[in-house]
Parts: sequence; structure tokens; C-alpha cells
Amino acid sequence: MKKLESYHDEIKHCIRCGACQAVCPVFEVMEREMAVARGRLRLIREALEGKLDLTDKMRDYIDLCVGCRLCVDNCPAKVNTDQIVISARHKFVDVKGLPFLHRIMLEQILSKKGNFNMALKSLGLARGTRLNKLLPEQLKKKEEILPTIPQRTFVDKMKEMTLDTGAPKKVGFFLSCMDNFMFPEVVEAAIKVLQKNDWDVVIPTDVNCCGAPHHVYGDWETAAKLAKKNIEAFQDAEVDYIITDCATCGSVLKEYGEMLSGDAMEQKGKEFAAKIMDINAFLIDVVKMKPGQNKVSQTVTYHDPCHLVRHQMVSEQPREILQAVDGLEFRECSDADRCCGGAGTYNINHYDVSMKILDKKIENVKDTTADILATSCPACRIQLSYGMRRAGLNDMVVHPVELLARSYED
Ligand code: SF4
Ligand code: SF4
Repeated sequence: MKKLESYHDEIKHCIRCGACQAVCPVFEVMEREMAVARGRLRLIREALEGKLDLTDKMRDYIDLCVGCRLCVDNCPAKVNTDQIVISARHKFVDVKGLPFLHRIMLEQILSKKGNFNMALKSLGLARGTRLNKLLPEQLKKKEEILPTIPQRTFVDKMKEMTLDTGAPKKVGFFLSCMDNFMFPEVVEAAIKVLQKNDWDVVIPTDVNCCGAPHHVYGDWETAAKLAKKNIEAFQDAEVDYIITDCATCGSVLKEYGEMLSGDAMEQKGKEFAAKIMDINAFLIDVVKMKPGQNKVSQTVTYHDPCHLVRHQMVSEQPREILQAVDGLEFRECSDADRCCGGAGTYNINHYDVSMKILDKKIENVKDTTADILATSCPACRIQLSYGMRRAGLNDMVVHPVELLARSYED
């Protein structure tokens, strides 16, 4: 990954036109110059030129970027602000270390599957005994963002499944932590759809977190360690494609070559990254999926995860899947590709800003009057489901493959 110093020239390309103001979701709710690409770039440039110190205040503004890339798409000078912001966070980690809460979250929870699972199970238990109601108000509302925690993870359920059916083709599947612990039904739906289309699925269970949270918060060392473990987990899989139903995982798995730049495993990282495909794109572009036989007589709209639409350029395929389901009526949502404010753990770290961004998204979803909201990222799903509940609506957020699976006969 590129160090912050190497972006100095690119930052100077910013012509201060302000086009990023019109699209930045954080600026829209904060209305502060330092909360938009132009302001952030100015802060970083001045720090690089020795005119500003790396202060906590500056770090706050850098951390407030959701990484949606809307500014990059709209920038006449093509400045890669989201990458520069990530590099600036890495600089802060280098100079000042990780903030305490980030360190706990990144090093003790997200890097260690057992701890992550235990933390979620404890939350489920606390909810069951209503102990969560005793949390301080600020923590309670953050806790409420998380969905109902299922009793069994996908890995628990997988023991009873037949994955090797002798189908003529096979594909690797990268199991995201969030789907494993919170949405096992999405992975089950993905397997059903793939098997109905004559593809077997190989799911190594010794994969770790993809490293996305570590990467975006500047802890590149841990992100690289996780990348190496994940590459090793797939080394015996003998597959040409590795798919994922998580947009965030997909976007960072595709960067393993760069994340391991200069490392002995760089080449393996590049080869691994070249195999990564989002499941929507895989079903449409490679599998050429069959239509289902069951009717799903409902209406649906779609939210584009930033990590899919702008990081992986996948937007048509999920819509094609939804439109292929017999009986399902697709309704486009205004600003479907605008960030929902979830951005991994942004909703926990910056609750108030995140909720303002979310409320705008939910208003647009409500305007479609669709029965179902589909999206292709578990992090967006958590945020959107919470938005539904906050707005007093039924939580009806699903992954497109779940609707497709419903259309296939059992
Ligand atoms: S759109 Fe690009 S060039 Fe214009 S102010 Fe924003 S970052 Fe600078
Ligand atoms: S990446 Fe998104 S949140 Fe960050 S500055 Fe650009 S538009 Fe704003």
C-alpha cells in the first residue's frame, strides 16, 4: 500500500472546485469544510508540508470519512481521496498508535474469531436476560444496531450439509465473519442457488477476518497477517474463482496483491485477488444462472453497497438477479448508490453522523413502498435493518441470493 508521503503530488492536483461537496454524505449532514474531501486533503497536505501537527482533532476529521468514493467519482482532478484518507490513518497509527477502542476491536475481537463469536453470544445472552437494558444510554443505542444473534453460526450448520455433491464444477466461497455469525441464512441461500446451477461449493472454515476493518483504520500490519492466513486457507481448494456475498470482504480481498506488496507472498496475493468475484457478478457473468420455478409475488428495491458499486463496479448484476425472479417486481430507489452510513463500525464510532445519513436513506427506501429491501453487504444490512426498526417499519432486508433461492424448488 502507498505511504502518505507518496500522495503529496496527487493531493496538489485538487483544484479546490468544491464538486465533492455536492456528493459527500458526511458533508451533507455536518456542513463543515473539514468533513469533505477538499478540507481533508488540505489538512493532509499541510501536515505533509510540516505546517500542521498530527493532532487528535485532525484525526477525528480523517476518521469521519465513510470511504464511499462518491467524491472520487465526482472529482474532475480524479484525486483518490478515499485511498489518501486510509493512508493518512495508517500514518496516525504509525506515529501515535491505534486509539484504545480501535485496538480492542481490531486486535482482540475482529482478528480472533473465537472472541468475536463469544462477544456476540454474550450479547445474545444479555438480551435474553434483559441485562442489556442496564447499559448506559449511549451504549444501549449502539448495541441496538446489531441484529438478533442466531443460536447457531453457519459453521455449526455446515456440519450437517452436503457440499460435495459431485457437480461438474466447483467454486470457492469466502465466508465472511458477519454472515457466519449473524446471517447464516445468506450463505445457505448462496449454496442452494449454486448447487441448483450445478456448481459445488468449497468453504474453508479456517478463514479469518478479511482484514477490511484493519486496512481502513490503518492497521496494515494486522491486515497483511490476516491476508496471508486467508490465502493459505484456500491453497488446497483447486478453484478458479473465489466468491463472496459480502461487498466489503470482496473489495479488500481483491487488494491482497497490493496489501502484500514487497512481501514474500506478494505473488500469491495477486493470484488470490485475481480469483475474487462478488456472488452477484459470478451468478450473472460466469454461471449464467437458470431461472427459478417458484413465484415470489412481492415488490423489491435495492441498495448499492459502496464497496460493491464503486469499489468493484458491480451494480447491474444484483438488479438482473432480482428482475429474473418470477413474480418479483423491482422498484428502483432514489440515490440507491448513496452510502447508508454503516461503513463497518462507523455507525458505532460516529453514531450521530451515521444515523443522519441513514435516515435519508430510509426515507428514499420508504418512498419506493417496496415490500423488501435487498442489498449485497452484511454491514449495510445491519445498518439498513436498524434504520427500518428505528423508523417503525418491518425489518425486511435480504441479500438478492435469498430471493433467488426462494424461487428455486426444493
Ligand atoms: S472535487 Fe476533487 S478537485 Fe474538486 S475540491 Fe473536491 S477533491 Fe478537490
Ligand atoms: S469518500 Fe465519501 S465520505 Fe469520504 S470524503 Fe469522499 S465523499 Fe466524503
